[in-house]
Amino acid sequence: MIFLNKFLFLILLVPFVSCEKFRFNNYTLYRISPENDQHYKLLQDIQNTDVRFDFWSDPTPLLDFVTVLSSPEDKDDLEEILRGNKMKYEVTMQNIQEAIDKETVESYTRSNNISMSWNTYYTLDSINSWLANLITAYPGIAGMIIGGRSYEGRDIKGLKISHGSGRRAIFIEGGIHSREWISPSSACYIINELLTSNDPATRAAARDYDWYIFPVTNPDGYVWTHEQFRLWRKNRRPIGTAVGVDLNRNWNNNWLVSGASVNPASDIYAGPGPFSEPETLSLSEYIRSMGDRIDLYLSIHSFSQLLLIPFGNSTAAYANYHDAMNIGRRAMGALSVRYGTQYITGNIAEAIYQATGGSVDWVKEQLKVPLVYCYELRDRGTFGFLLPTDQIRPNNEEVMDSLLEMIHQAKRFGYMNSSNGLHGSLFLCFLALIIKMFH
Ligand SMILES: [Zn+2]
Repeated sequence: MIFLNKFLFLILLVPFVSCEKFRFNNYTLYRISPENDQHYKLLQDIQNTDVRFDFWSDPTPLLDFVTVLSSPEDKDDLEEILRGNKMKYEVTMQNIQEAIDKETVESYTRSNNISMSWNTYYTLDSINSWLANLITAYPGIAGMIIGGRSYEGRDIKGLKISHGSGRRAIFIEGGIHSREWISPSSACYIINELLTSNDPATRAAARDYDWYIFPVTNPDGYVWTHEQFRLWRKNRRPIGTAVGVDLNRNWNNNWLVSGASVNPASDIYAGPGPFSEPETLSLSEYIRSMGDRIDLYLSIHSFSQLLLIPFGNSTAAYANYHDAMNIGRRAMGALSVRYGTQYITGNIAEAIYQATGGSVDWVKEQLKVPLVYCYELRDRGTFGFLLPTDQIRPNNEEVMDSLLEMIHQAKRFGYMNSSNGLHGSLFLCFLALIIKMFH
């Protein structure tokens, strides 16, 4: 009888597991090429109203493509709409499940050495174990920070890297959209470089600033993408019969003004109110508690190869808009050197046809942080969120190149001049003078 029960259990389980594994079987990825304003507007309407189609990138005049995923059942409808409106498109992946099956996820355990591999993705537990290991390996320099708490009760863990007190801060927020796996990976890479690199510019950057880096700010969503649904974007709070709020539409700055949805089933659902979600509320309180210490704030997303600056609802230039654009463009110039990867620098409103309630707008408007950027990492829609693992290292290397150049250019434009560094130099001059006097 027991044997029979087990047998029945297996029979019941097998179809369920198979169904889970092949959840995206025959889902097709399209790259659409809008050619005029009407095309962009139509695509934006579909994105805002038709939850059948998963927009992997936003319709933006900055880009000549829009990437959209369709289930096998809805493919014909999508193609009909596109053909009816004379929009060109190509199929970039006939069956995205094949790309999902190729992705590797490895576990990191504390008995390993302190380095991660940059040719694989990691689970949340692995990332957190690695952070814990770094704290042991770099006592007094690396410290665990908790930026908040998720709906399911997970800590939003990060690492603070500091070589002394009184320094200005650089804040990096990754993984707020859980399916963008390259984002936590690049944040981890930055941490790794700051702690282990022998490159003089990297070491100076590590020494001169206090770094606050949170690789995964949507931990529940990230776990869900690893365990249940690879393409999950939002958090995991149930809202009626739907689940999840887009955490990058939920910040209390022009909330729900544009580019967000009131439909809980939508992937860009802004939530029942600004800061309705524990993740955004707690993280924003943490950021606010840092007062005016932050000189540079980076929010890391994928994909499209864009560097975006606030604001999401206005193309009007704010006080240091032109400086921010210039610094950003130069940083993207440095990014392109190593592998020729081209990024476009632009304003969020012109880039994504207005989207409000994002973290960078809130940080810029409410906290007046001087330099605030949003990265949209590789690629330009060929693989999108399913960026192949052999692109992880090159992506992360070029992002690090751009970050160092960003700091360098920011200083040239009169930003990020660490007062601590200045005091340090003055102290050394003073010391040298004293030594000279007594010789
Ligand atoms: Zn994103």
